[in-house]
Order: sequence, then structure tokens, then C-alpha cells
Amino acid sequence: MRIDIGSDHRGYDLKCRIVRHLGERGCEVIDHGCDSAQSADYPDHGLAAARAVAEHPGSLGIVICSNGIGMSMVANKVRGIRAALCVNEAMASQSRRHNDANVLVLGADNASVDDNLKVLNAWLEASFEGGRHARRVAKITEAEGQRRRSMESDCIFCKIVAGEIPAEKVFEDDEIVGFKDINPAAPFHALLIPKTHIETLNDLGPEHVDLMGRIVLAAQKVAAEEGLETGYRLVANCLRDAGQEVFHIHVHLLGGRRLTWPPG
Ligand code: 5GP
Ligand code: ZN
Repeated sequence: MRIDIGSDHRGYDLKCRIVRHLGERGCEVIDHGCDSAQSADYPDHGLAAARAVAEHPGSLGIVICSNGIGMSMVANKVRGIRAALCVNEAMASQSRRHNDANVLVLGADNASVDDNLKVLNAWLEASFEGGRHARRVAKITEAEGQRRRSMESDCIFCKIVAGEIPAEKVFEDDEIVGFKDINPAAPFHALLIPKTHIETLNDLGPEHVDLMGRIVLAAQKVAAEEGLETGYRLVANCLRDAGQEVFHIHVHLLGGRRLTWPPG
């Protein structure tokens, strides 16, 4: 069983204890920090662990802070995550049996280490019962899908990906589309975008490292095909001060003239 785990500084000692405990149970544990009792921000480590669980369907995660509230909030922002803050064995067991929780949230200050370990064991030993509970969990998943679809339906670049708005394509593979900018700022100006809707550079996580690398390689390929052998520039604007207008991440590929520096 793969288990991704993360904590802030307040949950660090309990996390170390749980990592040992899970190792003894033969689990494969991936520790997303923090790595000491020095002050750490719970969203950093909670998101890393929750995103890893979402990336590996069927795996489980554990996130820990002082009372579990911040970690609950952040883990439940990740699509596909059902994170349950549990303070006793009954809650832990039910969160698996009824809610198909895939992330357990513990509060280091909510119970003693031994009692938190009992909560953890109860959680690991229970499994989803399906039936009427499957219908209810499906409604949670459906709500997630609706939120995503409404974001996407307002997005110009998702419409270009779907072919609903025409664009002059210069690149396409399974994950990425490149097309000419409608209002070019250089003789050659294209945009490279992921096919999935990600709003800003700040929404990227470790799971997007490959994708962003492939976007740069796609730009390199397009630049070569367009004969930009004397140089080109890649630009990615993030949020208002950088002038981001379209909230679906994109990398501008500019070339065909001598580009000045610094940009405005
Ligand atoms: P940003 O300012 O967000 O970094 O860049 C957005 C870019 O998208 C701008 O350069 C703008 O010209 C381009 N753009 C906006 N709407 C469309 C469109 O419907 N089609 C194409 N091809 N480009 C667009
Ligand atoms: Zn989009």
C-alpha cells in the first residue's frame, strides 16, 4: 500500500512516529515534509501529499497539523481528494466505510500519540462499503466535475483546445496545443498551452514538472520549424502585475525580430 504523508511543524513529531509505524506495517511511505520542527506552512506539505494521492488512484494519504483544520481545508481543494479529519476510531472507520476517504487528517494536539495511532489503525483497517454510500460519494465527484466544467466553459483557451474557437495551430500532441497569438507582439508569436485547464503558474505542483518541461520542448520544436535560428523568447505571465489576461496557463513564443530587454 502506497501512502503519501505530509505535515507542518506542529505535526512533525507525530508524522515521524507514523512513518515508522507504517514502515513496520510494510507500507510504502512517501514523505512530503516538513523535514524538521522548524516553522513550516501547512498548505505546502498538505498540497504535495494530497496531489500525490490524486495522481495515484487507489493510494491513500495522511496529513497532520496541530488540530487538523488547516490540513482538511487544503487537502479537500485537490480534485479527487476526500480528506477526513478524525479524532476517534469510530470517525476514522466510518470515513473509510461510508465516505471512501482517501486522505486521513490528524491533529497532533487532538489526542495523544497512542490515541492518534489507534485512529490511524482503525482508518487503515476499514474499507469502503459501496452500495448507497457509492451513490452519495458519486454526488461529491459530480459536484467537483460541475465546478471544473463551469471554469472550463468560461475559458477561451479551453474552447480553442475543444475546437470551439478557431486558432492557427502550430503544434499539437496529447497534452499540449500551440497556436498563433491573435494579436501578435512580434513577427512570430505563438502560445503553447496545456490541454488541461490550469489557471496560473501558481497552480502548478510537482506533478506538472514533466508537462511544463514538454511545453518548453514543444516551443523549441516550433521555433526550429519557424526558422527562428537567431533567437526567440519564451514568456509566461502570472497574475495581474505581469499582465496575465487569460487564466489558462500559456507560454508565449516570440521571435522574428531583435527583442529588447528588459521587457516593459
Ligand atoms: P497574457 O497577457 O494572458 O499572458 O496573454 C494572453 C494572450 O492571448 C494575448 O497575447 C492575446 O493576444 C492572446 N489571445 C487572447 N484571446 C485569444 C484568442 O481568442 N485566440 C488567440 N489565438 N489568442 C488569443
Ligand atoms: Zn482553460
